[in-house]
Amino acid sequence: MIAEVIINRGAKKLNRTFDYNIPEHLEDLIIVGSKVLVPFGKGGNPEEAFVVGLKEKSNYEVKDIIRLEENLSDKQIELAKWMSKRYFCNVSDCIRLMQAPGTKNKDKSKRIQDKTINAVYLKKDIEEIEFDIETKKIKSEKHIKILRFVKDNEGATIPEIELFTDCSRAIVNTLIKNGYLEVVEKKVDRDPLANKKIPKSSRLKLTDEQENAYSKIKESIDNNRYEQFLLFGVTGSGKTEIYLQLIEDVLTKNKKAIMLVPEISLTPQMIERFISRFGKETIAVLHSKLSIGERYDEWNKIKENKANIIIGARSAIFAPVSNLGIIIIDEEHDSSYKSESTPKYDSKEIAKKIAKEVNIPLVLGSATPDLKTYYKAINNEITLLELTKRANNSNLPKVEIIDMKMELINGNRSMLSMELYNSIEENLKNKYQTILFLNRRGFSTFIMCRDCGYIVKCKNCNISMTYHSYENKLKCHYCGNEQNVVTTCPNCGSKKIRYFGTGTQKLEQEILKQFPNAKTIRMDVDTVTKKNSHEEILNKFKNEGIDILIGTQMVVKGHHFPKVTLVGVVAADSSLNIDDYRANERTFQILTQVAGRAGRENLPGKVVVQTYNPDNFIIQTAQKQNYKMFYDTEITLRKQLKYPPFCDIIVIGVSGKDLNEINSSSQFMYQELVNKLKQNEEIKIFKPMPCPIDKIQNRIRWRIIIKAKMTDELNEILNLVLKDMYEKEYKNTKFSIDINPNNMT
Ligand code: ADP
Ligand code: ZN
Ligand code: ZN
Repeated sequence: MIAEVIINRGAKKLNRTFDYNIPEHLEDLIIVGSKVLVPFGKGGNPEEAFVVGLKEKSNYEVKDIIRLEENLSDKQIELAKWMSKRYFCNVSDCIRLMQAPGTKNKDKSKRIQDKTINAVYLKKDIEEIEFDIETKKIKSEKHIKILRFVKDNEGATIPEIELFTDCSRAIVNTLIKNGYLEVVEKKVDRDPLANKKIPKSSRLKLTDEQENAYSKIKESIDNNRYEQFLLFGVTGSGKTEIYLQLIEDVLTKNKKAIMLVPEISLTPQMIERFISRFGKETIAVLHSKLSIGERYDEWNKIKENKANIIIGARSAIFAPVSNLGIIIIDEEHDSSYKSESTPKYDSKEIAKKIAKEVNIPLVLGSATPDLKTYYKAINNEITLLELTKRANNSNLPKVEIIDMKMELINGNRSMLSMELYNSIEENLKNKYQTILFLNRRGFSTFIMCRDCGYIVKCKNCNISMTYHSYENKLKCHYCGNEQNVVTTCPNCGSKKIRYFGTGTQKLEQEILKQFPNAKTIRMDVDTVTKKNSHEEILNKFKNEGIDILIGTQMVVKGHHFPKVTLVGVVAADSSLNIDDYRANERTFQILTQVAGRAGRENLPGKVVVQTYNPDNFIIQTAQKQNYKMFYDTEITLRKQLKYPPFCDIIVIGVSGKDLNEINSSSQFMYQELVNKLKQNEEIKIFKPMPCPIDKIQNRIRWRIIIKAKMTDELNEILNLVLKDMYEKEYKNTKFSIDINPNNMT
């Protein structure tokens, strides 16, 4: 392989690429973006350079690259190699996660001064883009580089892309024209903490429960010993206070801390708590809302040992931190810790690997632990630490269950039960706030003919089109395809077309009809866009005297609203019926979390749960906020049906545009798997089948599912089979393997 490099010097005449040979031992390690040392000029002096492109051949006689000046350590390379096997991806995919965002290291990007910027986003699904790269529909290295850069830095501006990828604006524009990228005008959130005086806080005296948990973890810090803990504590039980004190202990030993939180709970309030304890200087925050320049600065702050506490979302586990003393993962059950695009890694696994290697504690915190985590805790693989009481003595909210079947019998056909209606009325009178929650994922405002059952679907994706009332259009959320609203059924000609929605719009209309003076705000897929963030809506709700927040699952997490005293769960059941083995677990988590939004401080909270299945054990245990009762029933079910934690669900994706090839390749792969793996009680291989969504953006999707524990041996065999498949010249087909994917569609 030949590397095209740019010499790292300011001279104008050096502003071009030079070819170098990549010696064999570096072949797997050098990627676009590596910092390398090359012999340069007459004397062949070693010179620093950046790799900007890779190609097969050069027209010149070329010298060897001397070495990789990786900004990465051997440990990181090791980790990248391990990840590549474990998650079935390229080493370079993993290295990219560990490098500073962008590759420029001289001129810093300009700070954004404008109030609005033109932010660049991927217009296509990343899987679709990776597919086009693999099938050579996208060939240019520069195109690939920009697309991958935008994947990692969504919302970067065109000048930032130019600066950090060394590609010209013209290339970005080509990608926009070809439908791969889109430009969205966006308001710049100024750093809400920039000029804010944050009062200092200090250690609180811990409660007995807190003290017990704290001292167990502290022991592991003091003895430089790896140990994994589950800090299982109800909402408000003082988990964060424990994190703060542990981190303080780690800092006094001149060590550092990584704290992962779900992106959505990485709010100014949360960061404020850390700043108030430790000061701003020592903290680095990594999340996707930062501009690429800011992220670059944070990354370097860590690298140069100026930050001791790293707070960030999933990928912050790869921050270049030395001398780590603790890793904390808050809300450990959150599905965002598992990446759904290549590399499809699980940051909890990565954290465990790192913690083991450097002999430090790994703390997982949650009020509703991942069933797998709790199972391990029960079986002594993880040390269980419990907090059963709220730290500030506020009470858990009272949860009332309303049987909607009875409401119907009593002649109430509205979306609100009498109980919820009365509670809202009272809350409005008292000037407290209300959250109304529809337990839906959002993508489901679909259109159906009531006579023949015909559903309007996207012709590219075979998934139902979503109705957008604002534009009065039907849109596909997978490919962006748009069409006009239908009023007669294309199948049978009937005019009885009905809209089935997430119901947030309908609910808002109904609320405004019944409570004309209420001020409402809505949060769902229609209102949360690239332009208008989830954060902005929540801030409005908090600060602009809005009475009622109406939303889908997005409202559940993170925020702390002191004036919210009522939470209404309008449709508790809908997530019970999704086609996923985690439906029960997710419903329980959602209901418990949403109930935790009510009555956080001195005002008492009330939760009204409307359901058609009042006897269902999920609804029952969520009402009692009794995780253990939920766990006992659910784990029995999982055991009977052989689902995780009793095995892993391994999904082998086979996709492409050529149905014949998909058919033959997936049959071939299935046979290979059957030949190489002994099927028995422990390993089950299912025949190739179309995925539930069997077409996205005209790409046909099939899969083979394996139910088995992912052992090293199985991992090896799968890697071999995958390699074979790629050598078999199925040119138009892409294969991928995902372990326990979040989404089974
Ligand atoms: P969690 O992270 O479990 O939701 P927090 O750490 O946020 O809980 O604590 C909830 C509230 O209780 C916060 O307002 C916090 O300041 C307070 N708190 C926590 N620990 C104590 C303590 N030991 N004494 C008094 N108040 C506490
Ligand atoms: Zn019809
Ligand atoms: Zn589509």
